[in-house]
Amino acid sequence: MTDRLAWIDEELKNLKETGFYNSIRTLGSPQGSHLVVDGKQVLNFCSNNYLGLANHPRLVEAVNAATKRLGVGPGAVRSIAGTMDLHIELERRMAAFKGVESSVVLQSGFVANSASIPVLAGKEDAILSDELNHASIIDGSRLSGAKIIRFKHADPQALEDAIKAAQSQYRRLLMITDGVFSMDGDIAPLDQLVEICERYGVMSMVDDAHGEGVVGKGGRGIVDHFGLHGRLDLEVGTFSKAFGVAGGVVAGKAKISDLLKQRSRAFLFSSAMTVPNAAANLAAVDLLEESTALVDRLWGNARFFQAEMRKLGFDTGVTQTPITPVMLGDVQLAREFSRQLYDAGVFAMALGFPTVPQGKARIRVMLSAAHSQQDLENCLDAFEQVGKRLNVI
Ligand SMILES: *Cc1c(COP(=O)(O)O)cnc(C)c1O
Repeated sequence: MTDRLAWIDEELKNLKETGFYNSIRTLGSPQGSHLVVDGKQVLNFCSNNYLGLANHPRLVEAVNAATKRLGVGPGAVRSIAGTMDLHIELERRMAAFKGVESSVVLQSGFVANSASIPVLAGKEDAILSDELNHASIIDGSRLSGAKIIRFKHADPQALEDAIKAAQSQYRRLLMITDGVFSMDGDIAPLDQLVEICERYGVMSMVDDAHGEGVVGKGGRGIVDHFGLHGRLDLEVGTFSKAFGVAGGVVAGKAKISDLLKQRSRAFLFSSAMTVPNAAANLAAVDLLEESTALVDRLWGNARFFQAEMRKLGFDTGVTQTPITPVMLGDVQLAREFSRQLYDAGVFAMALGFPTVPQGKARIRVMLSAAHSQQDLENCLDAFEQVGKRLNVI
């Protein structure tokens, strides 16, 4: 009898032979400046836990209190019996935090894109998408059935040219861009992109997953960073990065939220965010609104670390945020560098093709407010040693 799943063995073998097989590590500790990885204690420079909230006592307390009152599960999809006062409160608070009319919370940032894009665009429309947009934007766009037109990364002129070429052929146009790009740490020229969208009557949407809790006043995000309040139609966000928990949010004009609750398949056919998630997310918003201390500390750490890395002779690319790519070029070199850092007790991921373009392999160092000055210095020492050993500096 032939094995009808033999092709899977082939595919896995092929991934292993070509070096694309991803071995996933197991953590035996909470997220923080240090991790226990496969039993070994290491300094953590891999997570998106920008503000150190993933294991913050205030969030843990909020979960304990909420689960006592409301239990754990939401029980149903939002539109049947899954919306609790906690979800409404979180939506109200997120809208206020972002300075928009309204917000809708969803199960994840990934879901927020597939929930919202098909509501705004359909078969007769076109989506103008930055060529480096996140996978969840691409999937959400595909799901909409709209024509996807990619424009050159962070290039307002390319957007304008694409709009001019597409305008007469489609019913409506929607521009979507990441706010902060997670591989390079650069920021979209959102002020110019929005100005062009307004001029041509194109709908605009930004995915601010790496911007919320990081850029803008007290971490209010990319729209606040550029002072564009009220000018974008929709913002997608996540609670899984700076907010330290999990969940997604769609924020913007009230009528878009209204339509989303009627039409969005992920809203109508997937159960609500759990009680612990909603409670922890709400506590994270409280912390961000009370003080800018964590955001300030994150930026202090980023500025110090990046300046020291440049002094050592490393190329930190085009970053404008705490995401710190250490450009190495060759993927084998990046992997070896990451391995030797790990042996020295520093956990930082090597990224190669197809995650980043061919020949642009790198180690990506994710800084956090959770890191102490000593943590940063230990990391710099490890980079210096390995960099010299491998003739990078
Ligand atoms: C991480 C990320 C997401 C996914 O967010 P999750 O809440 O983890 O699902 C979506 N968009 C962008 C741009 C991201 O960086």
